Amino acid sequence: MSGNNISAVLYGKNDLRLEKYPVPEPGPDGVLIRMAQVGICGSDVSYLTKGFIGDFVVKEPMVLGHEAAGVVAKCGKNVTTLKPGDRVAIEPGVPCRLCEFCKGGRYNLCPDVSFCATPPVHGNLCHYYTHAADFCYKLPDHVSLEEGAILEPLSVGVHACRRAGVTIGSSVLICGAGPIGLVNVLTAKAMGASKVCITDIAENRLQIAKQIGADYTVLIKSDEAEALAKHIKKEMGGMPDITIECSGAEPSIRLGILATKSGGVMVLVGLGPAEVKIPVVNAAVREVDIRGIFRYANCYPIALDMIATGKINVKPLITHRFKLEEAHQAFEIARTGAGGAVKVMISCD
Ligand code: NAD
Ligand code: ZN
Repeated sequence: MSGNNISAVLYGKNDLRLEKYPVPEPGPDGVLIRMAQVGICGSDVSYLTKGFIGDFVVKEPMVLGHEAAGVVAKCGKNVTTLKPGDRVAIEPGVPCRLCEFCKGGRYNLCPDVSFCATPPVHGNLCHYYTHAADFCYKLPDHVSLEEGAILEPLSVGVHACRRAGVTIGSSVLICGAGPIGLVNVLTAKAMGASKVCITDIAENRLQIAKQIGADYTVLIKSDEAEALAKHIKKEMGGMPDITIECSGAEPSIRLGILATKSGGVMVLVGLGPAEVKIPVVNAAVREVDIRGIFRYANCYPIALDMIATGKINVKPLITHRFKLEEAHQAFEIARTGAGGAVKVMISCD
C-alpha cells in the first residue's frame, strides 16, 4: 500500500491537486491513522484562494486539512493508550513540550508548534496520516467520526468561552455566526449562559444560530456601532457581560466594545485585518477587558465530553458532505457558502 495515500495537496494559489503520497510510518510515540472525516476550515480556503495567511505562505506543496478524525491503523512501539481499530479525533497542533508556554500549560502559545496545514506542515486531508498518539482522543462508540472532526472548531469555542469567563447566568453577545460563532453559542449555553445574542450580516446563518439555541439574533445592516449597541441592549434587556467577536470585521469589533457592559470582557476570536481602528478609550474608561485567543489548549477532552454526554448537538452545523475525490467541489462550496453552507465535511474512507 506504499503509494496509495491519496492526498489533497496545495501547490499554491488556486492550485489544489489530488496526488498519491507514500503511506507514512509512525514514529515510536506516534500512530498511523486511516483518515475518515475532515472538515474544511476558513483557513484551508484562504490558503487555497490566496496562497497565504499573514506571514504563513505556501512555498512548497502542502497537504490541506486539520479538522479531522480517523481510525488507528498502526501504533508506534511506545504507544500504550491506543490500539489499531480505535476511532480518534486528532488535535492538530503538536507543541515542542519544552518551552515555558508548554511547561505552563498554555501550549497553544508555543512558538515551535507543528500545526496541520499551516505551512510548511502537512495536514491530514488524505487517506493515511501519522500523528503523536497523545494528541489523539479516543471516541466513545456513540460519538461519530464527523463529530470527532468537529471537536477542532468546538475547542476554539471552549477556549474562547473559558477565556471570557462564561458561567452560569452570563449574558453573552457573539458577533458573527459562522462555524466559530456557532460553536461559541453551543459552548456558552452549555456553560450556563442564560442569554446569548448573536449577530451576522447574513440572515441564513442567524437562522441556524436560532435553531441551535441562540436566544436573540440581530441582523447587521449598517456600520453604526453606537445605534447597534443600543439596539442589542434593548433586545437583551441589558448590556451583555461578555462579547465574543467571531467575524474579524472592523465594524463588528467596534460594536463589540461599545456593546459590552462596563467591567465586562470582550474576547477577540475573529482574525481580520492586522490593524483596525477601535474605540480604545471607551474600553479603557469603562474597564472592558479585551482578550485575545489563539486556537486552544487542553480543550479537546472538554469538547468531547460535551458531545458525548449530549450537552450539545453539533450535527446541525454540518451542511454538506463530499468524498476526497470531490475535494475541488467541496472547496468551491466552502469558498462561496453556496446552498447555505456552514461546515463542509470531506470523507476520506
Ligand atoms: P466565517 O467567515 O464562516 O464566519 C464569519 C461570519 O461573520 C460570517 O457569517 C459573516 O457573514 C459574519 N460577518 C462579517 N461581517 C460581519 C459584521 N460586520 N457583523 C457581524 N457578522 C459579520 O468564519 P469562521 O470559520 O466562523 O471563523 C470566524 C473567524 O474566526 C475568522 O476570522 C477566523 O479567522 C477566526 N478564527 C480564529 C481562531 C483563533 O484561534 N483566534 C480560530 C479559528 C478561527
Ligand atoms: Zn513549546
